[in-house]
Amino acid sequence: MTYTDDALIPFADDELADSGQASSAAVWQVLIVDDEPDVHAASKLALKGIQVEGRGIAFSHAHTAAQAMELLAQPNDFAVAFIDVVMESDDAGLQLVRQIRETLDNQALRIILRTGQPGYAPEIDTIRQYDINDYRTKSELTQVRLFTCLTMAVRSYAQIRQLEAGRRGLEQILAASAELGKPVGLKKFAAGVVTQLCALLNVEAQCLVCAAMNPADQTPYVLAAAGDYGAWIGLPLDEIPEPRVRHNLHQTLRERQHFLKDGASLYFQGYNEQALAAFVDVQRPLQALEKELLEVFCSNISVAFENLQLYLNINDLAYNDTLVHLPNRNALVEAIDARLAREGAVALLDLDSFADINSILDDSFGDAVLQSVAHKLRAAFPAETLVARLGSDLFGLYGPAQQVTPEKIAAVFDEPFAIDANEPLRLSATAGLVSLQSSMQTGLIVLKNASAALKEAKRFQRGKSLYFEANQADAARDRIRMLNRLRTSFSEERLFLHYQPFINLQDGRVVGAESLLRWKSTEGQFISPELFIPIAEQSGLMIPMGEWVARTAMKWRAGLSGQVDEDFRVAINVSRTQFAEPDFAQKFLDVLDEVGLQGSQVEIELTESVAIENLEDLAVKLAILRGRGIRVAMDDFGTGYSSLSVIQRLQLDHLKIDRSFVSGSGVESFEIARTIITMADHLAMTTIAEGIETQAQCDALLAAGCEQGQGYLFSRPMDEAQFLSWLQDRRNFR
Ligand code: C2E
Ligand code: MG
Ligand code: MG
Repeated sequence: MTYTDDALIPFADDELADSGQASSAAVWQVLIVDDEPDVHAASKLALKGIQVEGRGIAFSHAHTAAQAMELLAQPNDFAVAFIDVVMESDDAGLQLVRQIRETLDNQALRIILRTGQPGYAPEIDTIRQYDINDYRTKSELTQVRLFTCLTMAVRSYAQIRQLEAGRRGLEQILAASAELGKPVGLKKFAAGVVTQLCALLNVEAQCLVCAAMNPADQTPYVLAAAGDYGAWIGLPLDEIPEPRVRHNLHQTLRERQHFLKDGASLYFQGYNEQALAAFVDVQRPLQALEKELLEVFCSNISVAFENLQLYLNINDLAYNDTLVHLPNRNALVEAIDARLAREGAVALLDLDSFADINSILDDSFGDAVLQSVAHKLRAAFPAETLVARLGSDLFGLYGPAQQVTPEKIAAVFDEPFAIDANEPLRLSATAGLVSLQSSMQTGLIVLKNASAALKEAKRFQRGKSLYFEANQADAARDRIRMLNRLRTSFSEERLFLHYQPFINLQDGRVVGAESLLRWKSTEGQFISPELFIPIAEQSGLMIPMGEWVARTAMKWRAGLSGQVDEDFRVAINVSRTQFAEPDFAQKFLDVLDEVGLQGSQVEIELTESVAIENLEDLAVKLAILRGRGIRVAMDDFGTGYSSLSVIQRLQLDHLKIDRSFVSGSGVESFEIARTIITMADHLAMTTIAEGIETQAQCDALLAAGCEQGQGYLFSRPMDEAQFLSWLQDRRNFR
């Protein structure tokens, strides 16, 4: 169709295009509002068959302002309205315009005002205020003018619409970023990307996201998908049945960029070489605006993706042990809290002498041992049993009670472990078990109880398992509490020594004294060393404490010179953990030299339990000490299990007869004392009787051949001042 400029538009009726076809998306909707029927017909005729921006025109007609309002109030997509100014009233058209903009809040509709009489032209302000595109007298509107007018209006409408779409898209992206920025699993995240992409590009379905988690060694797979693609979730990329989709995603991941030619194939760069690719089956060319929006969307999503990966990594660290690739303590606690296996059992197992393995060989060997144990444990229990590493050489099991048993745990350690190219290594573990049947305690409490059982097992039956009994927890907790108080008292120098004299039974001479450790708690109560020494021994506190005892006792002895005979000796109790220290003997001699004593003025008391393990090591250390003249006594003799050969091997000087054979009732116990004395005599050892409380006991011991004694009959243990005045009294008395 050709138009000649300035030709008047004939207003003829034409039924070709009417409002019935106006809903088609491929046409521009134009509304004609005029009270003169001719104008409707003429407009349609003039614009018949024309195309604007590749789309035709569909007309709707209103003959009054009220009719127009009714039409416009419906959901619609009118691009342009030609509105007559004078209809029901002189300014009906202008009123209509005001209502469109204000009441209907329709700012996109382009409006061309027309009037028959020039006198009804609106004010220029009105034109601006109501965003009126054009104002023409009907006679001005030649066919060409009408066409240009409409074209301009339609273009400007399209632009407004695009801006609106852009704004909506940006809003959507913001919402998507907020939504996708939440810490969720990777699958949920990918599903979110699918939803948001479909919404952004206004496609219903046919969208999927595929992940290349580690391009180097893992084939990408479909993480999330919607529409017809939904069935492909979980498929490796290579197995996607549609070649077009497969090809697009491959290309995108390989070249690390978007491809928008055949559908939209988008690239999201994540953290650490990981990436996502998404394919959306848009079956139309993307508009420039859509491309820009996609660009913004993708960079936003990449940031959210990276954050998510960091979160997942942190999460991974929080719940997994990176050395042996097992769940960690947190994971175990949470699993017990969640009570996945209701009637379950929990075990904590600790490798025996792992510290030795680690110190003898290098750390990497220790790591390999732990990995091998982790591997064997995991393989030994079914998947429903959680196998965790809680730290160092401590492992945890949580699963059905018939799985987590002492027997099944022990079976793991039946065979030796093959570690690297080394000799097969025999390992054993000690375990503490808790049965969950009756308790609904939290994971933390359950672990505490298992840990109490483990401690008990370690004390009494290394290499075995022990079930938790309720009162163990209290005992264990009490011990910890006492240890903490003891530690504080020691560091605040609130421990002190008492001294109890040794008497030569034959002539009553004071030949020495035993130093005995005293602890008065903050509540002013004396706590027996029989209670706190074992606790100090278990914790390692015994080492510095024992050193302090030795130094203090020796200083005390040094301070007595002149007031006691030259060979007066101070006896110092030394516990097994002190002897276990490699440099014990040397340190002890250092203190001796520091204080300036003769070896003969010091005696060491060791209990029988010391002599049970590491006899050779002990013999070497004792030989060093004896080399300097220090005498060694076996304390509490008769209560333990030391054989004669042990006593001979250690070349002990003194045997202290335990007080249960001395002040104990009955003839029988005294017979044991007598036997010990006879035996010691054969071995050329001096005997010292502990706990002599009565003169009768003293007399009997003397008669049996016992050389020295100690006990309440002579004196209770005393502090320094008491000891001095006791010495004085005794000298005066004699
Ligand atoms: P022990 O070495 O056999 O010490 C003798 C214990 O018998 C002391 O108890 C002493 O007070 C007590 N005793 C002495 N005479 C009599 C008596 O006539 N009748 C009765 N019933 N008891 C008497 P204490 O002081 O309670 O010490 C207990 C244990 O604690 C000691 O037994 C010793 O094994 C350990 N101990 C004390 N001080 C130290 C220390 O500094 N280091 C180490 N490793 N152990 C220590
Ligand atoms: Mg003693
Ligand atoms: Mg004793």
